[in-house]
Amino acid sequence: MLYSKMLLPTLKETPAEADLISHQLMLRAGMIRNLAAGIYCYLPLGYKVIRKVEHIIREEMNRAGAQEVLLPVLSPAELWQESKRWEVYGPELIRLKDRHQRDFCLGPTHEEVITDLVRRDVRSYRELPLNLYQIQTKFRDEIRPRFGLMRAREFIMKDGYSFDGSETEAEESYRRMYEAYHNIFKRCGLDFRAVEADTGPIGGSFSHEFMVLADMGEDRIVSCPGGDYAANIERAHAIHPQEKNKLPIDLRELEQVVTPDMKTVEEVSAFLGCTAGDLVKTLVVQVDNEVVFTLLRGDHEINLTKLRNLLGSEQLALADEETIVRVTEAPVGFAGPLGIKGYKIIADLATKEMSNFVTGANKQDRHYINVNWERDVIPAQYADIRVASAGDLCPHCRKPLEFSRGIEVGHIFKLGTKYSQALRATYLDEQGREQLIIMGCYGIGVGRTVAAAIEQNHDQYGIIWPKALAPFKVLLLPLDMADQEVMNLTSEYYDGLAQAGIECLLDDRDVRPGIKFKDADLIGIPLRVTIGARDLKLGTVELKIRKTGQTLKSSPEQAPTTIKQLLEQVD
Ligand code: ATP
Ligand code: MG
Repeated sequence: MLYSKMLLPTLKETPAEADLISHQLMLRAGMIRNLAAGIYCYLPLGYKVIRKVEHIIREEMNRAGAQEVLLPVLSPAELWQESKRWEVYGPELIRLKDRHQRDFCLGPTHEEVITDLVRRDVRSYRELPLNLYQIQTKFRDEIRPRFGLMRAREFIMKDGYSFDGSETEAEESYRRMYEAYHNIFKRCGLDFRAVEADTGPIGGSFSHEFMVLADMGEDRIVSCPGGDYAANIERAHAIHPQEKNKLPIDLRELEQVVTPDMKTVEEVSAFLGCTAGDLVKTLVVQVDNEVVFTLLRGDHEINLTKLRNLLGSEQLALADEETIVRVTEAPVGFAGPLGIKGYKIIADLATKEMSNFVTGANKQDRHYINVNWERDVIPAQYADIRVASAGDLCPHCRKPLEFSRGIEVGHIFKLGTKYSQALRATYLDEQGREQLIIMGCYGIGVGRTVAAAIEQNHDQYGIIWPKALAPFKVLLLPLDMADQEVMNLTSEYYDGLAQAGIECLLDDRDVRPGIKFKDADLIGIPLRVTIGARDLKLGTVELKIRKTGQTLKSSPEQAPTTIKQLLEQVD
């Protein structure tokens, strides 16, 4: 490809609209342009990289026995009403009417459509298992579209669905997808972890998120340094080291103390001269139509996902001020478990071994000190309802967990019979009995994967493409456009590389070398070949590896062989 013929509008300045480095670099490298909030045009360079990711996905999905289909973007409301998601999905679902005033939506995901397809055409156990996938544009009216392709409103997703006749087969399908995902992200050159993710109240470990490790990632993850446990913080077990010899202890006398205007854990502990870990904080939670009191150690954070799974509830949130005042009969900041009647009290497991602790007194400017379990408070239940934190241990080997951040690029999930039940997708088993099909779903954000790759592979000058995603493998950079010898050699390389099937970009623009070098670093092609008149007089051309910055000289004749060798080496 000739640079001069390509729509490759690089930018010198960092666009003000972008905070995230990958977003900035995608704009600066002329890969994408914004059309409206969360909606992007892919320019030639950007689309080439998207196609690389898609190609890897296709190869690995096909290898794992999945078949590619293409489903409509537009889908009729009736299907979504059958699954009840027409109501449940909320404002993220983009809804519209056709000319006959019939309701439709733009697919944010395709469980309904694929289940409908399968229920109409699959009859017998002989037609199972089945695994279908597509790579297609999805629409989600995200509340906060941001970070470029990371969280867009219109984006390309690979979504796949498995259909099985038994639990064992469904688990086998899941395992195959788990492996396929490993292969895909490994081939993309990413540093990632497969982490256990929340499965909702169903439980089990059949939901994994594939996380690209990055400090800016929106998800928090924990992992065991020994490698035998990794989980999204929403799900991670919180197991803290048992402090030996802590009990038995003298139970001191319960006492109410004045804490003027001291509302936060920090204020109260500083005022009373204790640590946050000596406090038990009370968080009032609205659970569907009920109110629940939760108790946590002062320095711990509540995990609402765990609480929701524990209670099997739909809607769950920290109570608003009005509710707190009503149920505690005190201003916000003084809630406590003593004297609470008619509301369920759930204490986090980590509080169980505490004694002589501090709590709110359900009275303005008052706290209790020397509170103790059994004598003063009896919770309905102790349960793991907190976010794992530094010092917590791996549930398998008891080594301290490591905490990091990640970008969720893929998600695999065992759906069970949720959709086959709702849409009556059944098959006849060997005995001729009607059975529900067991399903799984498997997604990958294509654009988000590209953005995540840039987050992990860049420096102050620009992108450093992992070889598998690079839009071109080699950049030819002639310095003296008027020099016949330079241009002849450049064309010779260009033709030779094309014949060898190596994708090559030739910077044939008549611009200063400085501009060419800057753009070369910005767009991040793995190997740069600089051909200059001065070098040629000395009998050399220069090869530079973008990733390491390493340069080496080669004789003009030897260069094509060296290029191929170097390309083998870089990853
Ligand atoms: P998130 O928690 O980030 O909103 P999700 O749980 O809604 O993700 P899924 O429904 O599992 O995501 O979608 C499958 C994949 O699609 C995700 O793993 C992610 O890579 C990608 N994805 C989801 N939402 C977006 C978006 N708004 N923009 C770009 N990619 C997305
Ligand atoms: Mg989402």
